[in-house]
Amino acid sequence: MYFPKGNKLNSILPLRCPQCHRGKFLVHPPFKIFKLTRVRDTCDHCGLKFKIEPSFYYGSMYVAYALGVGLMVGTSIGYWLLSSNFSILECFLWVLGLILAFGPFLNGYAKIIWANFFINYDSNKAKTK
Ligand SMILES: [Zn+2]
Repeated sequence: MYFPKGNKLNSILPLRCPQCHRGKFLVHPPFKIFKLTRVRDTCDHCGLKFKIEPSFYYGSMYVAYALGVGLMVGTSIGYWLLSSNFSILECFLWVLGLILAFGPFLNGYAKIIWANFFINYDSNKAKTK
């Protein structure tokens, strides 16, 4: 990635391990929308256990909620700016459609953001292998 080493965006944007920024975080990429966004058990590069404790990723629902509200507000503002006559029903349908379309992405990114709250980059773990 294009961010300085240790920057959390190197982990979040490509959905990589929060500790080494190299190993994959999800079992399936989020664009495979019929597969559930499951987190791997361990990092295939540094061996980090992604599930710190049981039900750890339930907390990512707070992040998913924030991302969903951001998407809703952004869609509403975009619709309001681009439409000639504002219809609340059309706006609602746009928001609903985009939430459904980007749901797996919101879920996957919420989990990697949640993991990055608790796991920091370790340059020594990134070098091994
Ligand atoms: Zn790792």
